[in-house]
Amino acid sequence: MAALYLSLGTNQGDRKKALETAAKYISERIGRIVQASAVYETEPWGFDSNNLFLNQVLCIDTTLKAVDILDLTQQIEIEMGRTTKSSNGVYSDRVIDIDILLYGDICMQTERLTIPHPLMQKRRFVLEPLAEIAAHTVHPVSGKTIKELLEQTD
Ligand code: AMP
Repeated sequence: MAALYLSLGTNQGDRKKALETAAKYISERIGRIVQASAVYETEPWGFDSNNLFLNQVLCIDTTLKAVDILDLTQQIEIEMGRTTKSSNGVYSDRVIDIDILLYGDICMQTERLTIPHPLMQKRRFVLEPLAEIAAHTVHPVSGKTIKELLEQTD
């Protein structure tokens, strides 16, 4: 069993409901949710929109392979009605976005999947909820704790 940290984000429709539905599917298909951060309301990052995001981080106990987890999270995004994907760093409103932040000490980089998530160190909306439930967890690439990474962001 390794601790998997997923970040959830939503800025369209019934946002609270979307977080609940995503958490339900994750617990049914990926593994038991052992910790959930509070829900944070944040400004869109990387694009302009009037719709604020709700963000939350979950910690899950699972033994699945990382690539299988990505298949499952992408399937959940599609089922929940997400139609647009970000491409070349262009973002848009979305019903649900699920990112894999950390998976135990795994460091991997393939065409489909980079773990730890490459942008997590820059994103306060990820680091703040993550620090709430994993302050002393060490980011396996930088060697810094989540709390230290959060203190470095502006
Ligand atoms: P997005 O549209 O922001 O959900 O971006 C999803 C794309 O990022 C997908 O094509 C994934 O294959 C890729 N990706 C790479 N690393 C990760 C990760 N750690 N978590 C989620 N998606 C990832």
